[in-house]
Amino acid sequence: MPESPAPVVGVLALQGDVREHLRMVTAAGGIGREVKVPADLDTIHALIIPGGESTTIGRLARLYGMIEPLRKHIRAGLPTFGTCAGMIFLASGVTEGAQPQLGVLDMVVERNAFGRQNESFECDLAVEGWEETIHAVFIRAPIVSSTGPDVEVMARHDSRPVLVRDGDILASSFHPELTGDLRLHRMLLAMADKP
Ligand code: GLN
Repeated sequence: MPESPAPVVGVLALQGDVREHLRMVTAAGGIGREVKVPADLDTIHALIIPGGESTTIGRLARLYGMIEPLRKHIRAGLPTFGTCAGMIFLASGVTEGAQPQLGVLDMVVERNAFGRQNESFECDLAVEGWEETIHAVFIRAPIVSSTGPDVEVMARHDSRPVLVRDGDILASSFHPELTGDLRLHRMLLAMADKP
């Protein structure tokens, strides 16, 4: 049997830790590609929205005319993984104020919610169905305040959801691209591979 070609994984390259994700995609066996304009979305099998600053990512996405095309492709089943600011951008609401969001993931998040003295921290998390824990790096991370009925919580920290999945959408409040643990990137590649 001929080997199926490696999936092309786009990383939304408006702001944030794009390079780290591209490196992880390559290490996980995919082909990484920067995504900046709507036409780029037609050339990929999966998408990553990186961490950074969600208000900036949202504003730039609007400026580049990316909001509607992103919604359309993700709703049509483009496997998508959002980390930290990327998770916020995917969600349907924030607890305070308003900012551009895709609203494709049915949950509300509270930004920068772990408190000042806890702005950045690391810990090991148990993940639903995994034998080994994952080492999670949190940087000014959001808390998931509420989730819709279709959102599956895969991991919690202090009883709050920090890793969720809804069908083809995966989102984490932490940064797997900073630890070299390839399991979540591999999960995204597997989602892209399915018929
Ligand atoms: N605090 C940032 C925001 O609200 C997210 C931080 C991150 O992505 N590391 O967008």
